[in-house]
Amino acid sequence: ARIAGAIAGGDLSQRITVKSKDEIAELANTMNKMASSLDEAKKELDRRLLELYTLYNVSKVLNTTFETEQLLLKLVSDISKNLDITRVMIMLLDERTQELYSASFTGFENEGLKEVRRKTGEGLYGLIAQTGTGRLIKDVDSELNLAKVDILSPDIRSIIAVPFGRRDKALGLLCAFKDRPGMFEYHDLELFRAVAEHVAVALENAKLYQETKMQAVTDGLTGLYNHRFFTTHYAVEVERSARYGRGLSLIMFDIDHFKHYNDAHGHPAGDELLRTLAEILRKNVRESDIPCRYGGEEFAVILPETGKEAAMALGERIRKTIADYPFPHREAQPLGALTISTGVSALPADGMAADELISKADDALYRAKEEGRNRVVAA
Ligand code: GH3
Ligand code: MG
Ligand code: MG
Repeated sequence: ARIAGAIAGGDLSQRITVKSKDEIAELANTMNKMASSLDEAKKELDRRLLELYTLYNVSKVLNTTFETEQLLLKLVSDISKNLDITRVMIMLLDERTQELYSASFTGFENEGLKEVRRKTGEGLYGLIAQTGTGRLIKDVDSELNLAKVDILSPDIRSIIAVPFGRRDKALGLLCAFKDRPGMFEYHDLELFRAVAEHVAVALENAKLYQETKMQAVTDGLTGLYNHRFFTTHYAVEVERSARYGRGLSLIMFDIDHFKHYNDAHGHPAGDELLRTLAEILRKNVRESDIPCRYGGEEFAVILPETGKEAAMALGERIRKTIADYPFPHREAQPLGALTISTGVSALPADGMAADELISKADDALYRAKEEGRNRVVAA
């Protein structure tokens, strides 16, 4: 009666010891069975609740950030926190090399783990990506086929890893590790698969967001920043340079006799030329420089922290590279080559206001045209 009371009170681990073989014993046995089923059902419900709670928490992250880097960090830390797992890793597929790499992880600070990289089809992680089937390793010590390098830390004993992405091709893996054996069960695979699907959706959204953001600021033909981006970014850069007393230069150039090129070889050929020229421009500026398509056949490069002399040198290098480049039909141009005329202005020498720098560079460009084209003129 005491134990039956305890079970009724919610302690489903209690069992009645049955000694006799009478009706009371039968009753006690039934009571024990009932307690067992209730216990199972309760555990299953707890598990479901935890799953839902985890999914809810992970999906909350989806709306908080669209920046991929931040999102990846937040995902591993949230999964680690919600599921009480010290080590969590998200691997992504590098489309170019067909390798999986650790895009973000948490809990590996003591191991000093910097990066994990595996070819698709190779080792534990590579095989999961290839087959699209998750793996549960209850104890690394009893898995004979498991390569030591895939265990990632001497402290790890249980591993669970599931793929996410498209049905025919994994785009990444979600992996969790515990330092004792038997810490994951088969039903955990289901939970992790569900979490991984959320990870995939979050990453897909982040990618879409980045692409949309890029489309809004880049020019469709050349891939360079567009006029809108130039206007807003340029103002910010000028203001920053003026505030900190740093230099800033502006290069503006315009293709020589481009109308002639279009008229002679057609608009599509002109478009192709613009694309090639943009590629040359991109290759010839530094990481910190901002090359933009200012207008139809006019380009501008913002050069933060750059003095006028260095800007002139860069302008000259771009001019020469373009003049020497074997564009199709270049010989048919009035100057015998496809060339540009360039104007360069700089802060503070040519003024402190953004508009002032643009009109000075534009004036210099105009002079370059007047003086015979294919040249760089300083404001
Ligand atoms: P200048 O040396 O004085 O600059 O002569 P120009 O012929 O380059 O100058 P103009 O301003 O008369 O002509 C610019 C030409 O650029 C006219 C226009 O058809 C062409 N253009 C502008 N945007 C595009 C474009 O997106 N694609 C193509 N194919 N041509 C373009
Ligand atoms: Mg023009
Ligand atoms: Mg022109």
